Amino acid sequence: MNTDLLFDAFDREHLWHPYTSAVHPLPTYKVKKAKGCIITLEDGTELIDGMSSWWCAVHGYNHPELNKAIEKQLKNMAHVMFGGLTHEPAIALGKLLLQIVPPSMKHIFYADSGSVAVEVALKMAVQYQYATGHPEKNNFVTIRLGYHGDTWNAMSVCDPVTGMHSLFGSALPVRYFIPSPICRFNDDWNPDVMIPLRKTIEQHHQELAALILEPIVQGAGGMHFYHPAYLREAAKLCKAYGLLLIFDEIATGFGRTGKLFACEHAGIEPDIMCIGKALTGGYMTFSAVLTNRQIASCISSHAPFAFMHGPTFMGNPLACAVARSSVELLLSSDWKAKVQHIETQLKSELRPAASFPSVAEVRVLGAIGVIEMKEAVDMARMQHIFVEKGIWVRPFGKVIYIMPPFIITSEELTKLTSALLESIDIMYN
Ligand code: PMP
Repeated sequence: MNTDLLFDAFDREHLWHPYTSAVHPLPTYKVKKAKGCIITLEDGTELIDGMSSWWCAVHGYNHPELNKAIEKQLKNMAHVMFGGLTHEPAIALGKLLLQIVPPSMKHIFYADSGSVAVEVALKMAVQYQYATGHPEKNNFVTIRLGYHGDTWNAMSVCDPVTGMHSLFGSALPVRYFIPSPICRFNDDWNPDVMIPLRKTIEQHHQELAALILEPIVQGAGGMHFYHPAYLREAAKLCKAYGLLLIFDEIATGFGRTGKLFACEHAGIEPDIMCIGKALTGGYMTFSAVLTNRQIASCISSHAPFAFMHGPTFMGNPLACAVARSSVELLLSSDWKAKVQHIETQLKSELRPAASFPSVAEVRVLGAIGVIEMKEAVDMARMQHIFVEKGIWVRPFGKVIYIMPPFIITSEELTKLTSALLESIDIMYN
């Protein structure tokens, strides 16, 4: 590794990176290019990507189809406002999305990022309750260990401790938190798991607009996989007590868990659904909030007769065009078999880590592999070892996880998992 090329002095001095210090930042490696599953650093070092750039790049990097979609759209226009105007990329994407999301989802609100989609979903729920004559139903209930983004109200429904926002606690609206479901994805279902949610909803439903959940996989809050029956029972409770059910599928959407959307594991539909991340195949920031006819028409038939949100870059044509291309690419690929194959391989290749003294647990669902350590990881040292071993993996807290692009080959995945295990071995054993 050539450290002069890899670590840029201007970047270190002036560019703030996610969740790190401005003056003593964690190292940031300079990337020259990326193609398929390979990220090439400025000094020529090649890394096999284990992150899909935080759940996004499901088709890998620099994909000719996605490049073409953006280039084609660029010739017409990069952007026009969505207020009073519309365009083919937004319409075509909308038509495509309605074919794949749960059938009750009929209205689409395009937004800028995952966090903004969560803000929009929460506002939608409050405005719905307002429209039905329940302005007092304006708070939210959620489960611990959740993560929904970094903006204000999204932060307020993240886990107050592990959600990375604890220092803002006193400044945030106070939500109702109940324990994360202890019933794991493959456990036998235990109905007692519902008791805390039932109690909270019974007690506070008069002030609750909605329950918000990441279905099945709790991502940045610790990578936990919980039982689908929890979603079914939660949906019943919401219905009984007039709460809307919001599914944040920003991380889980587009095949990552083995289903196109994680709610399909439970066979239920939310009232409001957020999608983002892999929506554009990792090309651009973009998201969408979907809801059913009843909610959309209720909001629209009461003063102010409009949903009160409208971001400047709503429905950005470049983002819509690349999202359409990415979804088409996904649907035309054998993504399900691919994800299944990755799951099988991850299960067998990560299993040996379970016997490492430093490892608490290994778990796999779909194209997500998690090695939970007993202690928090020294990120800078660990990452240095990963890079030396030729892989790109970014742990957080105690969690070392991989979620490779779906196009990863079996050989690349074996290189990734074996380098991962060797690195943990070097670091801890
Ligand atoms: N919801 C979930 C489940 C997420 O994982 C994330 C991002 N990690 C967000 C929302 C926020 O998305 P964004 O970073 O695009 O704002």
